[in-house]
Amino acid sequence: MSTTPLAPGATLGRLGSGQLGRMFTQAARRMGYRVHVLSPSAGSPTGQLADREVVAAYADADAVGRFAAEVDVVTLEFENIPSASLEAAAAHAPVRPGVRALHLTQHRAREKRFLAELGVPHVHFAEVAAGGDIDAAIAEVGTPCVVKTAGFGYDGKGQVRVDADAGHAEARALAHEQAVVVERFVELAAELSVVAARGLDGRVVSYAPAHNRHVDHILDLSSAPMALDPGQARQATEVTAAVLEGLELVGVACVEFFLDAAGRLLVNEIAPRPHNSGHLTIEGAETGQFEQQLRAVTGLPLGSTAVRAPAAMANLLGDLWANGEPAWPRALAVPGVALHLYGKGEARPGRKMGHLTATAPEIEEAERRVTQARARAAG
Ligand code: AMP
Repeated sequence: MSTTPLAPGATLGRLGSGQLGRMFTQAARRMGYRVHVLSPSAGSPTGQLADREVVAAYADADAVGRFAAEVDVVTLEFENIPSASLEAAAAHAPVRPGVRALHLTQHRAREKRFLAELGVPHVHFAEVAAGGDIDAAIAEVGTPCVVKTAGFGYDGKGQVRVDADAGHAEARALAHEQAVVVERFVELAAELSVVAARGLDGRVVSYAPAHNRHVDHILDLSSAPMALDPGQARQATEVTAAVLEGLELVGVACVEFFLDAAGRLLVNEIAPRPHNSGHLTIEGAETGQFEQQLRAVTGLPLGSTAVRAPAAMANLLGDLWANGEPAWPRALAVPGVALHLYGKGEARPGRKMGHLTATAPEIEEAERRVTQARARAAG
């Protein structure tokens, strides 16, 4: 593998055209790279800013291969690209993260087996093949538990909670036609994540842990650096590095953790790409996660992940547009606040339309600023 970095002027290929690609493109263009994006529809959030937007389905392996033939490296924002398409791309250009990292993380059961083999703490689980004995798996794990589809789920979609006397019928229905995993239900003290990058030379750097709060299974608020005891912070960072090394990933990834009521850290899931909880690194760290992904996949030296300022990020969902355009001038009057809008046409409820980040001398003040700015935007 060539170790000469791809210099500015090279063309970076992006599979996936949403907000992650858009923010990657902003970093890439600032640094003088060209970006081609493969998108299922025209005028995408990434396509609006890229040098070229190729409209094709991710499952169209021929189109993905032709796309890859015109770029110097292929990266992505979306782990659920069919493997035939990834292989078609890899025949023409390096795919970073690699095909193995994607294969392991695009399926919950494979991902959990990988975590178990790596020996990192994770939520106790059982796997059930499509049409398999879900009742036995629930009995083995115990109630309460959560039944999740093994493939292609996100933001809490395809999940059923099962208690001693509720949820069994829904769980059987979910498991009838597809593989599932059954996870023990964890009494959560908090949820956190560590975004990290691994370079072509195998070096890993990590950002400060982010404290994540979800509403209706969708990330609502993240802030970093999270106040953890030093042992927990060290463990979160070490586990994250072990995951990136185990995946042999080149690029950026995020490891999401549960902190349980007994103070144990358990890996929940892995995203082999920049993550919503890492958006606050754009303003809050010396190198934002999108520039970091670019540095990793082009073979440049990784940037510093040091904290520039405590930061908090609030997602802006389509619901905020219920009464028309939000009151941006009122939101932006709050000090330290930055607005990111993704260029999405239709503001549907639950759709991620943008985010706000606030920085401040203290994390609590950053959280206060960002929630105040979002409340003001609502009018
Ligand atoms: P996931 O799609 O697996 O990240 O799940 C979405 C959210 O559901 C998580 O961020 C948690 O808030 C909650 N959740 C998922 N699995 C569990 C579990 N085993 N125990 C407790 N809460 C869970």
